[in-house]
Amino acid sequence: MASSSLLRPASPSSLFQNPNTPKPKPKTLVSFPTIAASSLSSSSATNSAPAAAATSNHRAAHENIREEARRHVKSHNFSAKYVPFNAPPDSTESYSLDEIVYRSRSGGLLDVQHDMDALRQFDGNYWKTLFDSRVGKTTWPYGSGVWSKKEWVLPEIGSDDIVSAFEGNSNLFWAERFGKQFLGMNDLWVKHCGISHTGSFKDLGMTVLVSQVNRLRKMKRPVVGVGCASTGDTSAALSAYCASAGIPSIVFLPADKISMAQLVQPIANGAFVLSIDTDFDGCMQLIREVTAELPIYLANSLNSLRLEGQKTAAIEILQQFDWEVPDWVIVPGGNLGNIYAFYKGFKMCHELGLVDKIPRLVCAQAANANPLYLYYKNGWKDFKAVKANTTFASAIQIGDPVSVDRAVFALKNSNGIVEEATEEELMDAMAQADSTGMFICPHTGVALTALFKLRNSGVIGPNDRTVVVSTAHGLKFTQSKIDYHSKAIPDMACKFANPPVQVKADFGAVMDVLKGLLFAGVWGFVRSLDGRGLDPESLNVDQNQQCAMKGGEKHSYMSSGNTFHSAVAVIARQFEEYELIPFHCHNLNLILLGHHITKARDEEETTANGMHETGTWVLRRREKN
Ligand SMILES: *Cc1c(COP(=O)(O)O)cnc(C)c1O
Repeated sequence: MASSSLLRPASPSSLFQNPNTPKPKPKTLVSFPTIAASSLSSSSATNSAPAAAATSNHRAAHENIREEARRHVKSHNFSAKYVPFNAPPDSTESYSLDEIVYRSRSGGLLDVQHDMDALRQFDGNYWKTLFDSRVGKTTWPYGSGVWSKKEWVLPEIGSDDIVSAFEGNSNLFWAERFGKQFLGMNDLWVKHCGISHTGSFKDLGMTVLVSQVNRLRKMKRPVVGVGCASTGDTSAALSAYCASAGIPSIVFLPADKISMAQLVQPIANGAFVLSIDTDFDGCMQLIREVTAELPIYLANSLNSLRLEGQKTAAIEILQQFDWEVPDWVIVPGGNLGNIYAFYKGFKMCHELGLVDKIPRLVCAQAANANPLYLYYKNGWKDFKAVKANTTFASAIQIGDPVSVDRAVFALKNSNGIVEEATEEELMDAMAQADSTGMFICPHTGVALTALFKLRNSGVIGPNDRTVVVSTAHGLKFTQSKIDYHSKAIPDMACKFANPPVQVKADFGAVMDVLKGLLFAGVWGFVRSLDGRGLDPESLNVDQNQQCAMKGGEKHSYMSSGNTFHSAVAVIARQFEEYELIPFHCHNLNLILLGHHITKARDEEETTANGMHETGTWVLRRREKN
């Protein structure tokens, strides 16, 4: 039976393969000849470079992109290791990335430290050219926005060990209308990191972590699985990357605190999902205890490997601006690893000569989970964890952020700011952004609220180039949008709600609704229904004029033949302020007629044109030149 075969591990491949051609190793990718061709085109920029992905040959027909990459292994002397985060200069404590270690000897955070002197053997232009040459290709593993910066991420991992979905390379969206309409801004950008494999920017870090775990397992290190506590997006990313590599994943989720879309992702990807009746902070505590006892690798952002991937979003922003540095970058913060990851990405570009400064960073928190905001407001004195209250920005509902020290470091060194957003503010900001064509998540609403506040106080200027980091896809958070637009959120005005209009399945009812909609701001509407009889109302031109003058309740003039001509001519003559423009006509004649009428001075001129078709005109106030 087809349905039961889906559940048997041995058989799913039969769904996709012709059973007559046994293929132990599917080579599906060889059917894309353009892959080799496009990677070839990058070789001029990279051939001379010792670290580059120079590809001098077309990929052979039997070869997949991993196999191709094996032929292009280059030796280099780049390296990275774990050191205690923000260690004093005389500290000698360090660990190989192949060790399983999450915290320093004193219990503090770790940081991945690159051999900057080795990287500095090449100048800024070299790195810019190298990174630019890899964008948008399918060369393994550089087609990924993360691994296109491999030398700066995990320089020593073999391409063969990398687990990637070619994440990153997300679009940087010019929020033209949102910026102009709501903020008076000219140069506002949204980095849509959530348009990604699992719908959040957590993919960027997870490809790095799971790749390193893959390497450890190949080195026969006893890692039986990878685990995380999550507010949703981390578990989705972890389970997808683990599934892709065939590594077991275990996720601890706070029951009823994440969206359905986020919950279903690890389930679908085959993770072992524990739904625990606590909040994120409770899950985090439990998994820390569990991973201390069992050979489960800890994938939380406490783990500094992930930040190496997350930081590439910052490098990508610079790259997308042709290595010009924006004035501001606003990031929503929960566990606070990411604000530091952005800092680190910018800082590396600065230190290695790709850019000459870094942007000012803003960390945006939900007021319901705002320990960093309170700390900042208190002049960075006496950090206190808080009990995080429920927030629509559920991925940042964290009261005791593990990376608080990293965040403080990033903000102090980037002349940064912390802002907060109430539930109403973040939901309104999200609705406003959506109304200009975006479809953002509530966390991005938090970041936009921070922008509103900093614009209103004049801290961010109208021409400042500003990037708002959008961290997850709006489709993961549809329930919050449904609640908002249904005005179903207690104590919230939902002032930008746009609920659907219930209407009977009846022509007249639908027309009434649509006329009410379409003629707000329009003064009149003329429709000729030639040969289909007259609308009695339209026969009285004076009455119509009055309606038009009032901008009134009646907007529609239905007529045909000469009566119609009289009506429009009189309207056109009486209301020079207004123009009558054809909206929809069935032949060119009528379109010409429509323009003609706008200039009409007398009836004869108008009626001279033939008029035997159906058409619709809109009477609209002339635009002043
Ligand atoms: C993880 C996450 C954040 C915050 O990142 P932190 O490093 O925890 O501060 C923001 N938005 C979304 C959607 C996330 O998944």
